[in-house]
Amino acid sequence: MGYEAMYRRSVEQPEEFWGEMARAIDWHEPPKKILEYDNPPFRRWFAGGTTNLCHNAVDRHLDARGDQLALVGWSSETGTVRELTYRQLHREVNTFAAVLRSLGVGKGDRVVIYMPHTVDAAVAMLACARIGAIHSVVFGGFAAHNLAVRIDDAKPRVLVCADAGMRGGKVIPFKPLVDEALDRARHPPANVLVVSRGLAPVPVRAGRDVDYATLRRDHEDAEVPVTWLESNEPSYILYTSGTTGKPKGVQRDVGGYAVALALSMWSVYDIRPGQVMFSTSDIGWVVGHSYNVYGPLIAGATSIMYEGLPTSPDPGIWWKICERYGVRTMFSSPTAIRVLKKHDVDFIRRHDLSGLEYLFLAGEPLDEPTAQWIHEALGKPVIDNYWQTETGWPVLCLLPGLEMKQVKFGSPGLPNLGFRLRVIDETTGHDARAGEKGVLVIEPPLPPGCMTTVWGDDQRFLSSYFGHFKELLYSSLDWAIRDEDGYTFILGRTDDVINVAGHRLGTREIEESVASHPAVAEAAVVGVHDEVKGQVPVVFATLKQADVPPPEVACGMIRTVTEQLGPVARPARVYVVGALPKTRSGKLLRRSLQALAEHRDPGDLSTLDDPRALEEVQRALERGA
Ligand code: ATP
Ligand code: MG
Repeated sequence: MGYEAMYRRSVEQPEEFWGEMARAIDWHEPPKKILEYDNPPFRRWFAGGTTNLCHNAVDRHLDARGDQLALVGWSSETGTVRELTYRQLHREVNTFAAVLRSLGVGKGDRVVIYMPHTVDAAVAMLACARIGAIHSVVFGGFAAHNLAVRIDDAKPRVLVCADAGMRGGKVIPFKPLVDEALDRARHPPANVLVVSRGLAPVPVRAGRDVDYATLRRDHEDAEVPVTWLESNEPSYILYTSGTTGKPKGVQRDVGGYAVALALSMWSVYDIRPGQVMFSTSDIGWVVGHSYNVYGPLIAGATSIMYEGLPTSPDPGIWWKICERYGVRTMFSSPTAIRVLKKHDVDFIRRHDLSGLEYLFLAGEPLDEPTAQWIHEALGKPVIDNYWQTETGWPVLCLLPGLEMKQVKFGSPGLPNLGFRLRVIDETTGHDARAGEKGVLVIEPPLPPGCMTTVWGDDQRFLSSYFGHFKELLYSSLDWAIRDEDGYTFILGRTDDVINVAGHRLGTREIEESVASHPAVAEAAVVGVHDEVKGQVPVVFATLKQADVPPPEVACGMIRTVTEQLGPVARPARVYVVGALPKTRSGKLLRRSLQALAEHRDPGDLSTLDDPRALEEVQRALERGA
């Protein structure tokens, strides 16, 4: 069946379609009803069915592929590689689950996991899933404040942490951060379970802190039975990136998530059992959850987890790993590719990438120069994916495992199976026509895999996502245009639109135009208040090389935009800086840039990556353009 036919079936006969897709996973008890939808927009997929994520990711592969690699943890930071077969992973997960149980963790209890991107972190997640505990992974690069906020939201019984992470060769001790977070938290866990990597000394608080290596000795041969969960019970909590404000705690289910991942592994990522997928995300993000841990393992594939910078020991490291393990599908982000783009393309070309079939990129707009550059470097399809923490798997994509459609640069492609997407005109509330800009919405019921609610806050789920239109429609407020062929183009977030003298301009369009100037590495464009025009576009840009004189480049950028987009889009000011402020997941913090440019408070900075970038912007603003 081709894409069109399968898509139509998925949205026109959802119960038949998903009933069939549900056979891809193991059920302890089969679903009694494929979809229960008597309390919109809340829905229950595979109601009454019981299953378990860990069983589907690990146990059920033991007979057929026990000796195949399940996880590879490659760390450029520690200079180590750890390989686990499915059988070894099963052992590790059972031991970890037994240790959690010895600390009193059971079904429905929350476990906060604050660890670097290592195999141990994946084992901890799977161990939680095994015993029906709800994990909440907090990105290992977050500071004590972020950790404390997430602890208070989850009220965990146990917090699992590593002794340390590493970034760019520097050891970052985690335990002192954890101690600080727990001192601040109102709902600290009873125990802290420390998985030491031997990187940093671990200050111990007696009675609370326990050492994993010590406890595991008592549980080395433990067999922990799987706890079967009803399909709609929570599997985990994960927070959005906080690009637009306070992060939201996304709650995910069990059965729907497993079925959606199983489907996407072959249809979107074209991975069959035994093949290798390498996602360069971090377990702290949704891509890490879905396509480093659960997706590849549910599919019986091998998943590569990479800890370190993409440029260390040299910018060829990812491609060396691809060659070494015969990676078929690679998944990364535009930000990461822009980092590689600053280096010689030969770092990629010198590796034998004959086994590599695709590079998928997601998380933020993929600009054409970046897509083109990596496409030429690899000679493979570069496929943009659009999705959100909330959706858990792609919303817009191409599905080469089903049918390879034409790649259109600038568009993440077509609606994924099961997603009823519409583009709505903001002012009229009606569907926008092809070629017209509107807000991208998903018509409920949301398909399997998507969030079930905001953790502990159904009201916020309703008001954040379903309160924007008269009709009951889900939206995270991204601008989109659909073309005649059904390809959707994402134009940025609705709060990233500039209104210049009545003309509404997407910041993304102007950014792409600025970035097409040969000296520019990356650009952020924001609308800044102006007495006359309402708002004017202001550019913040980083350059590829420091030795180009900025004033000349700034004029060049303004010229480029004016030529390409017309005088309304003409940037009023250009600031050249060394780095742009981003979230820890690599997204541009435009709202903070805009606030600073308007002399306002930069807002919630809890997920800001490098404070120096913002300080530099402040200095540039004080100096003047
Ligand atoms: P928050 O919701 O807390 O403000 P966030 O929206 O950045 O943060 P994520 O769930 O990590 O949190 O990101 C999802 C958003 O990222 C999408 O809504 C969209 O704005 C953007 N995005 C993701 N993939 C793409 C893509 N391929 N093209 C354009 N934008 C994308
Ligand atoms: Mg969002």
